[in-house]
Amino acid sequence: MQAIDKLKAIPFVQKYRYGIILLSAMSFLGPLAFLPQLTGNSDLCGQLCMRRFYLYFPGMTFADLWTHISVAYIGVIAFMLIMLTTFFFGRIWCSFLCPVGGLAELGSRMLNDRWKIEFRSLPQVQIRYGYFGIYLVLMPMLGISACTLCNFITIPRLIEALSGEYRGVVYVLSSVGLVNLGLLFILGFFASKGRAYCQFLCPIGAADGLMNRFGARFGFTHHIRVAKERCTGCNVCARACMCGAIKMVDKVATVEQLSCMSCHDCVDVCDWNAIEWTTASRNKEPKRIKKGVEIFPEPTWASLNIMPTPMPQRNGIVGKVHVGRLVNGLIVSFVIAFVATTSAIHYFSL
Ligand code: SF4
Ligand code: SF4
Ligand code: SF4
Ligand code: SF4
Repeated sequence: MQAIDKLKAIPFVQKYRYGIILLSAMSFLGPLAFLPQLTGNSDLCGQLCMRRFYLYFPGMTFADLWTHISVAYIGVIAFMLIMLTTFFFGRIWCSFLCPVGGLAELGSRMLNDRWKIEFRSLPQVQIRYGYFGIYLVLMPMLGISACTLCNFITIPRLIEALSGEYRGVVYVLSSVGLVNLGLLFILGFFASKGRAYCQFLCPIGAADGLMNRFGARFGFTHHIRVAKERCTGCNVCARACMCGAIKMVDKVATVEQLSCMSCHDCVDVCDWNAIEWTTASRNKEPKRIKKGVEIFPEPTWASLNIMPTPMPQRNGIVGKVHVGRLVNGLIVSFVIAFVATTSAIHYFSL
């Protein structure tokens, strides 16, 4: 009875989302995996791989990049479609469709909270983009294959193993399989809300987060936006957010668009109708002005991003250094310097 009551209490959009994730898992992953089979594949690798074509190798030319693209051309098309939908509608792929992140989340939601580890308060943007830089440049340089740490193969192989397929059993008993399973359990099933792998280690999620933040800058796109004038700063949405993307800034909910997955959970729990998946308000004209106060007929939906807190004023100079931005800047500088140096070494040694 308790389980039925819990199911009934799930908001409609979330029930719908979980249903789509299950359908997607049945369509993409074994033993049915009928979508990959339409392209002659049995899993998400090969032509369907979305995780490798953009890796950087020293001395890489456009011809090499083109070769990578043509090997995984369906994955490249899928990746581009994901980016396009994210620009206009937010991260629909990650929250509603991806069977890999979705199954980890569903597994975690079925476990009792006392077994779970809380990762959402970690500096996820720094960890994610630090690892993304290493994944794009350093790992290929060191000859570490992108397949070594890949959740897009772990879950399909785990399902194969559970359904008794030899290939899946061999994978889960191998050292690579055991490491990946460990990551899946710790950062997936046993992580609070199940999305820690997505937030820290998935390269598709990292690229998608950048696109989400870019798209949210445009008022005509659908993203999670906050109506400042309605928000009470009650923090309920931040506690519900599976990605740890919401923080209170000056008692107003503020969404980190680099982390938000547009899952709608925050919208469902806000009693004040202060957060919404929407375009920015088009009605900029006040309905009327009373005693000098502009009264709007509808809230002004704004994409509020977490901004650095300015450091206290010292000797008349306002310090603007923020640790997060500093770390991001160092990571980006490191990656650019690394790419430039290795390319130059490769070019001059030819
Ligand atoms: S294991 Fe992962 S990175 Fe390797 S081909 Fe498959 S999907 Fe791509
Ligand atoms: S971040 Fe990666 S694993 Fe997670 S939902 Fe998105 S694509 Fe899937
Ligand atoms: S958006 Fe809603 S739930 Fe979140 S802090 Fe504001 S009022 Fe509370
Ligand atoms: S901010 Fe809202 S929509 Fe975005 S991930 Fe968090 S709960 Fe989901």
